[in-house]
Amino acid sequence: MPELPEVEVTRRRIAPLLVGRRIRRVRTTADSYLFMTRPGSLRRRLAGRRVEALERHGKYLLAELDGGGRLVVHLGMTGQLFASGASSVRLLSATARSALAPEEQADFEPDAHTHLTLDFEDGGPEVYLRDVRKFGKVLLLASGESHPRLDRLGIDALEVEGPVLFSATRRRSVAIKNLLLDQSVLTGVGNIYADEALHRARVRPTRRAARVTRRECDDLAAAIRRVLERSIETGGSSIRDYVTPDGSDGGFQDERRVYARTGEPCPGCGTAIRKIVVGARGTHYCPLCQR
Ligand SMILES: [Zn+2]
Repeated sequence: MPELPEVEVTRRRIAPLLVGRRIRRVRTTADSYLFMTRPGSLRRRLAGRRVEALERHGKYLLAELDGGGRLVVHLGMTGQLFASGASSVRLLSATARSALAPEEQADFEPDAHTHLTLDFEDGGPEVYLRDVRKFGKVLLLASGESHPRLDRLGIDALEVEGPVLFSATRRRSVAIKNLLLDQSVLTGVGNIYADEALHRARVRPTRRAARVTRRECDDLAAAIRRVLERSIETGGSSIRDYVTPDGSDGGFQDERRVYARTGEPCPGCGTAIRKIVVGARGTHYCPLCQR
């Protein structure tokens, strides 16, 4: 499952291939649960529109269109957004076999899994949304229109600040880790990043959210931003799900201090990293550094 850093990496790579270009024609597959806007409506309403910007909120990509309105894309488990002729497009895929290797994307012909093809007036590269398992979503919003899926998202994790986190944790008896994973509070913190940020802020994952101090919320917010930004810089981190063009895993996993390091020495104090289950998620922490 792509997490926020992988979606942000995709946004940065695909934005230059979308922004400023006018869509000439749209091709889709047949109607399915991937389409939250019916394919016929998408084809009709997208043709002739110019993409003004490509934004991201949590794991949703939002293409702003001229005259208002937004094309919303969620990559789900196996969604890939890429352009024809792009030589170093990163892959988003849950399984290697469902993904196209970068060299296959370079001279890609749309196949049965290519649910959206955008063809542009400038005659340049087409942009494809390919999704083998179809857990992704496509939605076209009219000017000023929103959707409950977007409305219920919390603060984007890349922009979280200490004071906001502090007020969100007050009177909350849940474990701080569960609160960090609650997408209505903070959107885009996955399991790996929660464990890593909590270690950097020296807060134990099981501590009640309301017992995290103002100072610790400052440290935690900074740590969340830092681990996500670092992961974006290194091209993503999902252990199994993310493959770079050369077939290697994203670079961030070399920087993991606790996640999937059970029994290994804590980089801060040497104590063995412990693994427990919090909110049904495997959780890694240092019993000495994190209180
Ligand atoms: Zn330690």
